[in-house]
Amino acid sequence: MKIHEYQGKQIFAQHGVPIPKGRVAKDAADAKAIATELGGKVVVKAQIHAGGRGKGGGVKLANSPDEAATVFGQIHGMQLITHQTGPAGQKVKTVLVEEQMPIDRELYLALLIDGASGMPVMMASSAGGMDIEEVAAKTPEAIHRVSIDPVTGFQPHLARELCFALDLKGDEQKQAIKLMSGLYEAFIATDASLAEVNPLVTTKDGRVLALDAKMNFDDNALFRHPDVEALRDKDEEDPSEVEAEEKGINNFIKLDGDIGCLVNGAGLAMATMDSIKFAGGEPANFLDIATANDVNKVIDALLIISRDENVKAILVNIFGGMARVDIIAEGIIGAQKQMTRTIPVVARLAGTNVEEGKRLIEESGLPVIRAEDLGDAATKAVAAAKAA
Ligand code: GDP
Ligand code: MN
Repeated sequence: MKIHEYQGKQIFAQHGVPIPKGRVAKDAADAKAIATELGGKVVVKAQIHAGGRGKGGGVKLANSPDEAATVFGQIHGMQLITHQTGPAGQKVKTVLVEEQMPIDRELYLALLIDGASGMPVMMASSAGGMDIEEVAAKTPEAIHRVSIDPVTGFQPHLARELCFALDLKGDEQKQAIKLMSGLYEAFIATDASLAEVNPLVTTKDGRVLALDAKMNFDDNALFRHPDVEALRDKDEEDPSEVEAEEKGINNFIKLDGDIGCLVNGAGLAMATMDSIKFAGGEPANFLDIATANDVNKVIDALLIISRDENVKAILVNIFGGMARVDIIAEGIIGAQKQMTRTIPVVARLAGTNVEEGKRLIEESGLPVIRAEDLGDAATKAVAAAKAA
C-alpha cells in the first residue's frame, strides 16, 4: 500500500524525523492562510501516489500568501503527468502547503527490504534531488548501501558510514544520525517495505530535514496496523485492482499489455506471463485466482479483465489440483454471456475434472480456443490478440 507525502511526513514526525512545517490546504483561501502563518514564503505540493511531481509542474514555490492562493489554483485539480503516472496522468485532489527551506544540499536517503539478503538496507547518495533514477542507472557507485541486521538494529557505526558517504560532518552529522535512526524506527514500527527521502536536505542555516517522504507498506502486515490502513486513498489506486479486491480476488495486478490472464497459482501465473512474452505478446494483468471453487469469482475476474479496453485476448491457464476445472469452465461460459464485447478466449485446462470442463465448454457452443500446453496457449493467445 502507498500513501501520500503529507501522511508519510506525519509518520516521520512521530518517530523524530524532522520535516518542514505545513499542512494540507482545503482551498485557495486556506492556502493563503497557511502561507501567512508560515511567514509568507511556501512550497505548494501536489499530493499524488507517484514521484516526479517536481518535473511535471506539481511542486511550485510561492513567495507571498497571495501567490500561494494562485499557485494552489494551478495545482489543485490539474491532471499531473509524471514519468510514474503513465500518459493519462493523475488528477490532483490534495495539496500540501509547506514553509520554504533555504536548501544548501539535496541528498538521497532510503530504506527498503533487500530481497537478496533478506535484510533492511539503507541507501544514501549525495546526488539527491529529482534525478536519482538517472544516478542509479548511470553511476550506481554513487549510491552507498548498508545492510541492517534486524536483530541488532540500526547501529551507530552504520549511520556514521552513511554520513561519511554523504560528507556530513559535525552538527549536521549528529542531526543526520538522529534522522536515520528515526527513519529506521518508523520503517520497522509500521512494517514498511519502503521509506524514501528524496531530497534529504541540509539548509543554509545548518539544519538537516526530510523535504519529501515516500512510504510503502507490506499489505500482508496491514492487519496489525489499522492506523496505517486508515491512510489508504483508493482514488489513487487502479480501479480494476480495487474492484478485484472488493470481490475477494486478492492477487490481481493491472499491467499494460493486451492479453488478459486468468491463472490458478502465483508460480503458474508468472510462468504464463513469461510464456506470453516469449511468444511475442504482453500480459494485461497478473491474476492468481487461487483455489477459488466459486463460479461467481471466476466470472467476476473475467469481467474485470474484459472491461480493460486494452485487452484483445484472454488466456485461461488452469492446472487443477484443488481447483476444479469444471467450475472454471462454468465461469468462462458464464462470463462470456455477460461480456459486452467479444474477446477471444484461449483455454489451457488440465487436472481435476478436466473432462467435465472440456465437455461443458464444447456443449456451450462458445468459441473458446483450446490449447494443449502452456507454450501452445501463449502462441494462440498472442495470435488471437494480433488478429483482433
Ligand atoms: P518529487 O519531484 O515528486 O520527488 O517532489 P519533491 O518533494 O522531491 O520536490 C521536488 C523538488 O522541489 C525538490 O527536489 C526541490 O528541489 C524542490 N523543493 C521542494 N521543497 C522545496 C523548498 O522548500 N525550497 C526549495 N527551494 N525547493 C524545494
Ligand atoms: Mn522527491
